[in-house]
Amino acid sequence: MMSLSFSCSASLYAQLPSEVQARSSNLDKVKNLITKSGIPSKITSPLESLQKGNWVKLICGASFEDVTDIRNLSLVYTLAGVDCIDCAAEASVVNAVHDGIEAARGIFPIRRPWVMISVNDNEDLHFRKAEFDPNDCPIDCSRPCENVCPADAISYFGKAGASKGGVLAERCYGCGRCLPVCPYDKIRAITYIRDVAATAELLKHNDIDALEIHTSGRQAESFRELWNGLGDSIDGLRLVAVSLPDIGELTVPAMNSMYATMRANLQCLNLWQLDGRPMSGDIGRGATREAIKFALHLASIKDKPKGFLQLAGGTNAHTVEGLKREKLFQTTTISGKPDEANDPSLALISGVAFGGYARKIVGRILSSLQSEHGFAHLEDYPDHLLKALIESLALVGTVKCYNER
Ligand code: SF4
Ligand code: SF4
Repeated sequence: MMSLSFSCSASLYAQLPSEVQARSSNLDKVKNLITKSGIPSKITSPLESLQKGNWVKLICGASFEDVTDIRNLSLVYTLAGVDCIDCAAEASVVNAVHDGIEAARGIFPIRRPWVMISVNDNEDLHFRKAEFDPNDCPIDCSRPCENVCPADAISYFGKAGASKGGVLAERCYGCGRCLPVCPYDKIRAITYIRDVAATAELLKHNDIDALEIHTSGRQAESFRELWNGLGDSIDGLRLVAVSLPDIGELTVPAMNSMYATMRANLQCLNLWQLDGRPMSGDIGRGATREAIKFALHLASIKDKPKGFLQLAGGTNAHTVEGLKREKLFQTTTISGKPDEANDPSLALISGVAFGGYARKIVGRILSSLQSEHGFAHLEDYPDHLLKALIESLALVGTVKCYNER
């Protein structure tokens, strides 16, 4: 792996091989792009972003554990100015996120995003893995499972006797799209619940800023068990998020019940992640509608508990235009009235989390990097980094309003 120094004089620079010069010049373009986009003046502390309504979270995926991609995604989205990076509750994954953040800060002195881990209180779509034995597959199958997988997690090596194949567990994030397309019903989904004691241990390591609890909102007892099991491991956190689906009339009572559980020992900020249509942002423009509908529903309700509101589930490049249409983007009032549950000076909707869509637009570049150079660090190939940064800025900029006066 090549490490470059950019402090060399012009004459020394001229003596460098042309390949190194090209890399150096592309890394300069990366820095210029960050400066010209107005990022340094537009990004604020994560707390201020929540308050102003321009908070952006990158969701690496509660079950996605490909540490090479996670490191590179964390690098590029840190440079693009996200406020938080949400990842699986595994030490190796958390390390990869930190590594990516530090690599980004080695390129440009940008502020550090918060690091969040995600856990579940019960069965949840985000916490499952697909699985099949390729040797059980008919040899003439056209393999629709491979084509439909958005994570490139499936490769068929059956019958020929290859040792690997089927679903690559660390890349599968449980979207479930492969399950219905298999004509022979060979694929199973294995669900799991993150171990509470292991999560508490991980949180004590002091390099995690936030925790997200995924819940259906329908099982108060499971939520209480998880919360109580975490004990004092949450004491050093800056933020606890609860990710829940819209369960209609039951949503606010469920939120109130969970808040009552947390309240006694919640010493930090809290946030409600409004999970519209889980893991679907990459599917198309319309995927974001449910998250916006959910936000509209909650924003108008008076008796909800305290906490920031943030969209997820189906979010993509069209989410902000949808929020603007509903007059929910970076506003403190709805229909001219402030939100009674929260400080009237705070944005009604604190921000947006991007998952599948954010990974898709940068993932294309990461997979071409991998096919050309293997498991590489993105910063060692600044032409790829530049392309990835352009994609990520376009997305993060929809919320952060880069380049807008
Ligand atoms: S389609 Fe979804 S569930 Fe199936 S292997 Fe790919 S990521 Fe996993
Ligand atoms: S579609 Fe089903 S049978 Fe065909 S390769 Fe995939 S898992 Fe095997």
